[in-house]
Amino acid sequence: MTMPERKPSWWWDWSWNPVSGCIPVSEGCRDCWSLAWLKCHTWKKPTVYTGAIKEAVDGSIRWTGNLTALRAGDKYWDLPHTHPGVVNPALGDGKPNLIFTVVEGDLFVTGRPKEDIDRVCGTLAASEHIGQLCTKYTSQIVDYFTSLDPDAVRRWQPKIWLGFSAETQKWFRPAMGRRACTGRGRLVCVRRTLTTARAGDATARLPCIGKADMGHRLR
Ligand code: SF4
Repeated sequence: MTMPERKPSWWWDWSWNPVSGCIPVSEGCRDCWSLAWLKCHTWKKPTVYTGAIKEAVDGSIRWTGNLTALRAGDKYWDLPHTHPGVVNPALGDGKPNLIFTVVEGDLFVTGRPKEDIDRVCGTLAASEHIGQLCTKYTSQIVDYFTSLDPDAVRRWQPKIWLGFSAETQKWFRPAMGRRACTGRGRLVCVRRTLTTARAGDATARLPCIGKADMGHRLR
């Protein structure tokens, strides 16, 4: 694989989707960014999205509730180890690449098998790069990382950046109040329409990056 180029507007270098599927969790899920993206793409062969989405009678794309994962032997599982990296990493020349992970779906959705989460996180931590995990299932991401061996979490911290998707102001304090449990909170994904959301003191020292609106930053 030749080294691809990162689009200048991207705050990540490339994406990796070894699992998919989600269950809407809040009002904002009506404008699910992932479903909008999936509606615009088709594949000739079965993918990780097969079974995770369906077309509704009105033509829209919905989650089925099936939480899918690549087959155990699928070589795409190894992408964080085999990807050659981009020629212009977001962090700068010679720096690790930022892997936006499980973009289409939510890794920490209720019901996701722990083995699948373990494999995603373990693969990222063992790679030369940095994985970015963003969720709306904030309790589940906290529960997952607090259930792990603290030494393992410390080793993973430099390799995995955690984030949550914020819809309104009220999403900030409960989620960020738990930041100490989850290690280094790095990302805050902000829905495009919420231009009035303010990070406040708790997140002032964190880089805040919008998922839906790539150019938007918190004030
Ligand atoms: S949690 Fe995220 S991926 Fe899941 S339905 Fe809501 S917006 Fe979509």
